[in-house]
Amino acid sequence: MESFFKRAARDLSEAKIVVALTGAGISVESGIPPFRGKGGIWEKFDPMEYAHIDAFMKNPGKVWAVLLKEMKEIVDQAQPNAAHLGLAKLEKLVKNITIITQNVDGLHQSAGSTDVIEFHGNFAWYHCLNCRRRYSCSQIDLATITPRCRCGGTLRPECIFFGELIPPDLLIRSRQVASQCDVMLVIGTSAVVQPAAWMPVIAKDAGATVIEINPESTPLTNETSDYFIQGEAGQIMQKIVAEIKRL
Ligand SMILES: [Zn+2]
Repeated sequence: MESFFKRAARDLSEAKIVVALTGAGISVESGIPPFRGKGGIWEKFDPMEYAHIDAFMKNPGKVWAVLLKEMKEIVDQAQPNAAHLGLAKLEKLVKNITIITQNVDGLHQSAGSTDVIEFHGNFAWYHCLNCRRRYSCSQIDLATITPRCRCGGTLRPECIFFGELIPPDLLIRSRQVASQCDVMLVIGTSAVVQPAAWMPVIAKDAGATVIEINPESTPLTNETSDYFIQGEAGQIMQKIVAEIKRL
């Protein structure tokens, strides 16, 4: 295992362009529950009733009272963990790093990463459906539901609801950086959900080294990943960063 840290450190320091693809697994250590799978948010809430854009537009108060209230409370309290901080440090150590994330918690930016493509938007920012004025999570008071803009308009989170499209410019840029990178880190995701699932394949086909960091092996492990570092993302990222500093 130790040699994988050294190998990752060398691969990352020699790379001109690095892309990190991150998923729910990277935020678990920050107390953010995943949406899918066991213990996930969709076990508690029917997404069609609470997370579809039609449900929100029809009755924003109902969606705010249940799903959005809970998400806002989770995001309000969450702090970036060692894995987010490790990626932010990596940005200072290697030149060019873009993060593509399936997460909606905004923790990469809180950790200090500056180039983050959020496929599904985020719960850290909200805007008014009427005048589009933006509010950060901490500016929103849930004493009254539905929270409203100072103009009286309804606020919505800047995440993608079911029934909404991932903005095409994000998809285009993700494909572009995936095809140009020398190293792709896959962290905390089994990358089975599109369009994220394509990114390691695009990188691999274009000649990049794909390094997978996950607690368990995934469909990528034997198919696409050049090597697999098994364990908790936080510890592993800290070790890789320490190795890079030693080079
Ligand atoms: Zn407004």
